[in-house]
Amino acid sequence: MWFRRDLRLADNPALLAAVEQAHADDAGVVALYVLDDALWSRASSNRLAYLLDSLRALDAACAGMLVVRHGDPRVVVPHLAQDVGADEVHVAASHEPYGRRRDDAVGTALAAAGRRLVATGSAYAVSPGRLRTGGGTPYRVFTPFRRAWLEHGWRAPAHRPHSVPWLQLAAEPLPAAPAPTARLPRAGEAAAHRRWREFLREKLRGYAENRDRPDLAGTSAMSVHLRWGEIHPRTMLADLAAARSDGVPADDVATFRSELSWREFHADVLHHQPLARTRSLRTVVAEDTWARGDAEQERLTAWAAGRTGYPFVDAGMRQLLATGWMHNRVRMVVASFLVKDLHVRWQQGAAHFMAHLVDGDVSQNQLNWQWVAGTGHDAAPYFRIFNPVTQGKKFDPDGVYVRRWVPELRDVPADRVQEPWRLDEPPSDYPAPIVDHAVERRVALDDLQRGRS
Ligand code: FAD
Repeated sequence: MWFRRDLRLADNPALLAAVEQAHADDAGVVALYVLDDALWSRASSNRLAYLLDSLRALDAACAGMLVVRHGDPRVVVPHLAQDVGADEVHVAASHEPYGRRRDDAVGTALAAAGRRLVATGSAYAVSPGRLRTGGGTPYRVFTPFRRAWLEHGWRAPAHRPHSVPWLQLAAEPLPAAPAPTARLPRAGEAAAHRRWREFLREKLRGYAENRDRPDLAGTSAMSVHLRWGEIHPRTMLADLAAARSDGVPADDVATFRSELSWREFHADVLHHQPLARTRSLRTVVAEDTWARGDAEQERLTAWAAGRTGYPFVDAGMRQLLATGWMHNRVRMVVASFLVKDLHVRWQQGAAHFMAHLVDGDVSQNQLNWQWVAGTGHDAAPYFRIFNPVTQGKKFDPDGVYVRRWVPELRDVPADRVQEPWRLDEPPSDYPAPIVDHAVERRVALDDLQRGRS
């Protein structure tokens, strides 16, 4: 059983398939994780520290039998299969561009030696690529995708295997965790379930109303657990249906389910359009719109450090640095600010996010950036430019979120905390706005006009 982004034992059909085969052959199951150099060298210290914690939890769940190997899976997996005489290597299917290429290569190498790579299930309730429009084409628009996704439905969660005949092999030690730059959430399947139960108990009621409020922390914070597969969305969807039967308002349940379907939509889009990882799906403005060279670097640096002078933006960027996570509403505002106020290409912002987010996921990150930048198929139109001050006033009305992350503004009253430059004496240690939003908004709209002509 080759674990990748499914670091759990419950509701894991690939693991069940491996166990079933082992029982049939009167054989054992090797629990394998490969620390892939290609991913290891690109991931931020926060991502790696979280992954290592999650692997420790998985190892404990596998009675200490998790076999960790370093290197290129295209070499490591076929070698290990040969060493232990495994006819089959079980996985949950990958749908990201890199994972698909890797699995094709591993499958070919295994097949050359008369073995099989067996894919069962995926990280999604409905596997990417399965749904098609009436015309047989992939979905480009979210609302009809969600309709089809709901109509299609999903299986009930798979049971946790009662006992697994794990095989003990020598494993390489986990590398020392790089020092995280953030206070990371607890990792592992048990932690994921604890957090999910707590959300169901305390926050699902009211989710539809509170989910946009970063000051209230009204969301589930499950994205990191979903990213590493410490819980499967099918389990969550089943619990949501049960919560509805227990009287949780339909709106709260439907809104949460809809957020999960955004995750499935983005995975489906990237499945069909792997180039969307780096390329805009649509060109909306001319190339010369974007800042270049030192100007780009300076703006990017101020934005990344949370020193733009716009408190709501800066709070989000500092939350990201401090915790490896950022609230969705704020992700949208900071992304819009980078692209449309600072005129920096979305790919630069997406790269910074991927370096720091513990839930960083290529399909969700790149396609959400394309959504904000107006370059996705079903994106916010380019002319929708978030105003960082009014967004702050609306979604952080008392400035609680800003004051939490921007200590320089701790003593600023609520009516000025989103625009401290209007104080008679603005705090001397907080930067003045690096651009004027009203001016840059105009520039962005002119860029759009030029792009159209
Ligand atoms: P909740 O509100 O509790 O939502 C429940 C779940 O629904 C989430 O855990 C997530 O799996 C899914 N979900 C919610 N909103 C979205 C969305 N807009 N798109 C897709 N799925 C969603 N999410 C990631 O998982 N990884 C990323 O790398 C990522 N990058 C993003 C970059 C930008 C610019 C933006 C605007 C959004 C990004 N998101 C990403 C989506 C979203 O911000 C996070 O999923 C959400 O903030 C996670 O918090 P939560 O679990 O508390 O969400």
